[in-house]
Amino acid sequence: MEKIYISCDMEGINGVSSDRHRELGDVFYEWARRRMTSELVTVINAFKEQGGVEFVINDSHDYMINLRIDEMPENVSLISGSHKTDSMMQGLTSEFDGAVFIGYHGKCGLHDAVLSHTYSDSIAHAELNGIWFGEATLNAAYCGVKGVPVLLISGDDKLAQEVQDMQTGTRSVIVKYGISRSAGRMLHPKQVGENYRKAINEIPNTTIKPFVMDSPYTLDITLRETQMVDIALRIPGTIRTGDASLRFTHEDFITTFRAFIAIQALSSGSYLK
Ligand SMILES: [Zn+2]
Repeated sequence: MEKIYISCDMEGINGVSSDRHRELGDVFYEWARRRMTSELVTVINAFKEQGGVEFVINDSHDYMINLRIDEMPENVSLISGSHKTDSMMQGLTSEFDGAVFIGYHGKCGLHDAVLSHTYSDSIAHAELNGIWFGEATLNAAYCGVKGVPVLLISGDDKLAQEVQDMQTGTRSVIVKYGISRSAGRMLHPKQVGENYRKAINEIPNTTIKPFVMDSPYTLDITLRETQMVDIALRIPGTIRTGDASLRFTHEDFITTFRAFIAIQALSSGSYLK
């Protein structure tokens, strides 16, 4: 557990409940960004106590410039900015002993998960080999093909269910309880810190397996608008399966992952971010 990769998103951070927290430039954003930093530093320090010596952080939210290197502890390097071909998983290689997902959130379509979505709001529903997935599951499968176990995932209680469904032994830390897509019951930060330390202290004595899905990989995606499919069908290999749905199949996981990133980016118009 010496070399650890951390993908850090914002919607699942303790205290964050509103679109206003997650939008760069909003008056509420700077507070949320500082909460994100503080939660991440808590996690890094707890892993250091368990033998972590090298940390690569991937800023995984929106423009991916939320975290600042001078606010990080020592022994940390930070992947900052976009574009990154593999987005929230950029920089994850088989050299890591484990991966950690902080500030993650419920999958697209969950009404009572705080700020639920899967990569972009253009995705209404997303399945991989018949499994309704969120960012946690898809990104864990990315780690799985590299042989890297996901040690811990944090966010709300609805996300914790998705983590449990992977059946890998991955620890989940609950920092809030979802009430609606834009409301949650927040735990006190002191309690959140204790929850992290407890979970991270348990990891050395827990069997945690990489999350591995079987090839071939079939994506079945429903988009919010029919014309989004017309745009996404420009991606080679995609086929329309309904008015607002499309499919992509490939035997290679990374190709499938990148097809999904392309579908959500093209259909949401976020490819210039
Ligand atoms: Zn996200």
